[in-house]
Amino acid sequence: MSRRPIIAGNWKMHKTIAEALALVQEIKEAAAGCDGVEVAVCPPFTALAPVVEALRGTDIAVGAQNVHWEDKGAYTGEISPVMLRDAGCRYVIIGHSERRQYFGETDENVNRKVKAVFAQGLTPIMCVGETLAEREAGVTEKVVRTQTEAGLAALTGEQVAGMVIAYEPVWAIGTGKTASDEDAQQVISFIRGIVAGLYGDSAAGRVRIQYGGSVKPENAAGLMAKPDIDGALVGGASLEAASFTGIIRAVV
Ligand code: PEP
Repeated sequence: MSRRPIIAGNWKMHKTIAEALALVQEIKEAAAGCDGVEVAVCPPFTALAPVVEALRGTDIAVGAQNVHWEDKGAYTGEISPVMLRDAGCRYVIIGHSERRQYFGETDENVNRKVKAVFAQGLTPIMCVGETLAEREAGVTEKVVRTQTEAGLAALTGEQVAGMVIAYEPVWAIGTGKTASDEDAQQVISFIRGIVAGLYGDSAAGRVRIQYGGSVKPENAAGLMAKPDIDGALVGGASLEAASFTGIIRAVV
């Protein structure tokens, strides 16, 4: 089963509108011709609409970094899936470890958000991954299974096949420590097995599962050469066009 890899940049709480536009201009030029890989950028909410406008006519997709599960209502400070669709987003990152760690995101909320995003025709990039303490305690698979099963609950096989899952070991995010190619492949293949158990081989063969955690141009090729790794969710290295497009070029 051939899956088109997806390299997505998670800009986190970085970039003003002007900075965002300058960065996508550079990415647009540098990523031209990289057809074998899908590219997405996930700016902060304030820059979404201008970035969508700047990328109109290109194949580069835009995603948000979070969403509420309701379409509208008295939820001060929140952004709904309807608003993200209206702004021109295709993807939404859900359940990033920083949301889980600093903002109390639970597996149940991740599942609500995944379903709400699908209801608006958007595609979730659902993040799962263990902390360092969990890895050292030998419970990586247990943690990843719990997060994956809860996040995917009550979806259809077609939905799961069309979504993106990002395996992001928390200890590798923003730390400069990357999982070895083999460790990342082992956990991602384990996640694919969970999807197979829940939704069958067809969904498991089609769902794209990224690796995330200190991906850089220097380590991207080795990770992406692994059979179950379908791209990367990139934080720090997505903030500069040279490093982000270096990662894209390592995949094609
Ligand atoms: C992330 O935030 O999803 C991430 C993987 O960050 P970094 O690449 O900086 O580790």
